[in-house]
Amino acid sequence: MTVAPGPPRKVRTRIAPSPTGFLHLGTARTALFSWAFARHFGGDFILRIEDTDVARSTQEAVDQIIAAMQWLKLDYDEGPFFQMQRLDRYRVVIAQMLREGSAYHCYCQPEELDAMREAQRARGDKPRYDGRWRPEPGKELPAPPSGLRPVVRFRNPADGAVTWDDLVKGPITIANRELDDLIIARADGTPTYNFCVVVDDWDMEISHVLRGDDHVNNTPRQINILQALGAQLPLYGHVPMILGPDGDKLSKRHGAVSVMQYEEAGYLPEAMLNYLARLGWSHGDDELFEREQLLHWFDGRHLARSAAQWDAAKLNWVNAHYIKAMGDQALAAIVAQRLQSQAIDASDGRLPGICALFKDRCETTVVLAQWAAAFYVAVKPVSDERDKHVSEAVRPALGLLAGKLALCGWDKSSIALAIREVLAESGLKMPQLAMAVRVLVMGTSQTPSLDAVLALCHRSAVLERLQAA
Ligand code: GLU
Repeated sequence: MTVAPGPPRKVRTRIAPSPTGFLHLGTARTALFSWAFARHFGGDFILRIEDTDVARSTQEAVDQIIAAMQWLKLDYDEGPFFQMQRLDRYRVVIAQMLREGSAYHCYCQPEELDAMREAQRARGDKPRYDGRWRPEPGKELPAPPSGLRPVVRFRNPADGAVTWDDLVKGPITIANRELDDLIIARADGTPTYNFCVVVDDWDMEISHVLRGDDHVNNTPRQINILQALGAQLPLYGHVPMILGPDGDKLSKRHGAVSVMQYEEAGYLPEAMLNYLARLGWSHGDDELFEREQLLHWFDGRHLARSAAQWDAAKLNWVNAHYIKAMGDQALAAIVAQRLQSQAIDASDGRLPGICALFKDRCETTVVLAQWAAAFYVAVKPVSDERDKHVSEAVRPALGLLAGKLALCGWDKSSIALAIREVLAESGLKMPQLAMAVRVLVMGTSQTPSLDAVLALCHRSAVLERLQAA
């Protein structure tokens, strides 16, 4: 049986994270693909929280997921839906399947299943449920044991195969004999994972399921259940995992894997979106593109079949690009917040100018905020730079400069003139004087043009720091 797309329908995609932790980069990328695909085709994007693993699901994780989606501006049209609020609906569908014969009660106890598997292994067979409670025409089933509650199993087709044309991987075929009669409800009546996904995708009229390829094995089971329900099937696309630099699946071991950790570390959402989009998808050689461009291009083609590798240096390069391109006011607002969290009040109006001067040398807004902090709190010069540049030969000129800076107009050109006068009077070269001033005023010799830097400092702070020479 080949899965045909069925009649055309409105594009509806979803992201279905389990709230058992932060939003992982891999899930964020799948969310991004699903969202961009829906937006490209004018469809809907849905957020569904798969919280049936009650022991591991937390409200904090739900909040984190929503915060990360908002930060990346992956807006959803419907949801969040919570599976735990849909239990009645799953029960109705299970009852319907039992009535129609596509599901049945199975009274096998765990010990019995263990013994079954052991015997199969001993015979050299693959362990699987042997169908002892599966109704067949003409087959007599054992009498239900009293006092035991049954699980509900899906009556998987015995023969044939499931084939779907994966949007990423191309045609995939799985023989039905490889698939067990899946338990869809436990003995206590709670529905199982694959079953909930099926009912949700059906009810939410999902047209395209984009997800990680760790779900490939679930897909034939889900397709069979959807078929049994008479549901129109979605198209499936399984995106390869993201790998760490060592070729293993990206995990905490490789560094931050939570989206919001990147916010904390000074990455811009625009950069994150751009970088994540390129991990496993391409549009020619384009590396840098705006959100609107992505939505225009992202039609589900050009998704890579092979796994993408996380590249921190490239992410930094992308982030540096977006920091540089960002308006000074907007950047200042981000930096102000960072400084505020360090109890530095930077609301005196200088911050946009500071951002303008430093933004082209920063890979993260954390680094930009470090630069900006030097304009508000005393700096401690890097000691070997101080030893190297603030030499005895330069010291008299520093005093001279302090004298002129105490009296001159406080703007870039007046400051530049004062510096030039000191150079003429002292006979020093520009780098000798400038390096020393930079180290004393900003803590390091690697700064943008000195007159511009000083003009953004308060005169009193400059004089104080020069006098500390
Ligand atoms: N809850 C699953 C996960 O977090 C997603 C399932 C799906 O997309 O079908 O991996």
